[in-house]
Amino acid sequence: MFWRRLAMSEPTIYELSSPGRMGVQYPEVGVPLSSLPDDLVRKDLPLPELSELDVVRHFTNISHLNYSVDGGFYPLGSCTMKYNPKVNEETARFPGFALTHPLQPEETVQGNLALMFTLQEWLKEISGFSGVSLQPAAGAHGELAGVLIIRAYHRAKGDEKRTKIIIPDSAHGTNPASSVMSGFDVVSAPTDERGNADLNVLKNLCDDTLAGIMLTNPNTLGLFDENVLEVVKMVHEAGGLVYGDGANMNALLGIVKPGDLGIDVMHFNLHKTFSTPHGGGGPGSGPVAVNEKLVDFLPGPLVQIVEEGTDEVPPLFGLVMPSKSIGRMKSFYGHFGIFVRAYTYIAMHGAKGMRSIAEHAVLNANYILSKIKNSYTVPYKRICMHEFVVEGIFNDAPGVHALDIAKRLIDYGYHPPTNYFPLIVHEALMIEPTETENKATLDDFSQTLIKIAEEARKQPDLLHGAPHKTPVKRLDEVKAARDLVMCCTIPDK
Ligand SMILES: *Cc1c(COP(=O)(O)O)cnc(C)c1O
Repeated sequence: MFWRRLAMSEPTIYELSSPGRMGVQYPEVGVPLSSLPDDLVRKDLPLPELSELDVVRHFTNISHLNYSVDGGFYPLGSCTMKYNPKVNEETARFPGFALTHPLQPEETVQGNLALMFTLQEWLKEISGFSGVSLQPAAGAHGELAGVLIIRAYHRAKGDEKRTKIIIPDSAHGTNPASSVMSGFDVVSAPTDERGNADLNVLKNLCDDTLAGIMLTNPNTLGLFDENVLEVVKMVHEAGGLVYGDGANMNALLGIVKPGDLGIDVMHFNLHKTFSTPHGGGGPGSGPVAVNEKLVDFLPGPLVQIVEEGTDEVPPLFGLVMPSKSIGRMKSFYGHFGIFVRAYTYIAMHGAKGMRSIAEHAVLNANYILSKIKNSYTVPYKRICMHEFVVEGIFNDAPGVHALDIAKRLIDYGYHPPTNYFPLIVHEALMIEPTETENKATLDDFSQTLIKIAEEARKQPDLLHGAPHKTPVKRLDEVKAARDLVMCCTIPDK
């Protein structure tokens, strides 16, 4: 358990301060002192006075209040919270990568460009697309790039009346946001009773105002859409393009290439599928991939070989802007440190390893599902992919909700699963174990879920009051978002 101390009673660094305590001692000054201009020196700067050890303990203790993949199981559905191997961090800190400056001349950063070029090529190979841009900074940013590419494609053909994007009702909220930000009207399409896109409804939506569809496959129910080929055909016949949300690539690596399914444009989440750290607002990366007819529209610059190499001389890499590019999505070249981590991850696993990642991610999810399916209602009774959704509500314990189950899991030392998403499942709990967890963890977690289902009937108050052991209990999440307090107040001296 991490909750070693109560954060609410944790003294601030100012309260720990004790006059005269010091972290550093400067040597006697050996040069004449000169005074600073008066208006540059603040008179009241009550800095805390502490020893180095006080400071280290304080920040180490509060850092332990954060939940992390390195600290415990994190089955947050749709987010792919897999373990991030530490070798990724090692390579990202190689001075040749970490100390280069984005304004350096290209000939002095050939190694960095070679890494970016290779990553572009690997992502193309993994996904079956013809071009990749590493520019976008996150999944949602990659979506925006992809939808802007769809818009640019129709405009380049003078096809101005295509104003509509279809988005299935199971989609991630970023999909409609990306479409609306790109100036499109969003039409929501229902899911059929097997959890696939409803073909009958789609048929009626496919007309000459259709710009495209945004599909997530496997979808956010954790199900492979069995109608994907028909959907792609229907949309193409109506003159639209198919966007693939690639956040769920962890289920497909080495098994299915979205490009082979006929998808035209897709984003990756390097920070999900390829194990670069995420959460806490750190940098992510959402490269966008396209098929042949869209390569000229990619955001740039891309890395290309500008002069072929020979046996003795390596090729010369350069930065190139595609001819009809939608422009830049990001200053400079995207999040380079994240590229190094994703490159390392792919290189360490190789092609066979990629496939085994997907196989184990799917196996682990089905293992938990099979263990808990008699304790929780499973809305779509199918083999799941890398994640699955159950209902967090029981007929014989109507006062207990998905949120209570999620909060109770915290007492047992787990990060809660995603809840209330996807919206089409009543009281949804969305569980994604990832491939990096072992059988013992999956067993313990499944047992805990079963135990909580029993508690819901026998001791519902245990769930309603959860979490019991954390520094703060139930937060007002709306207030936390609306009235965010970002700084502590300095107590009066
Ligand atoms: C995570 C996710 C996104 C958005 O990715 P970010 O990197 O968080 O912006 C989009 N779609 C799905 C299905 C996702 O799971």
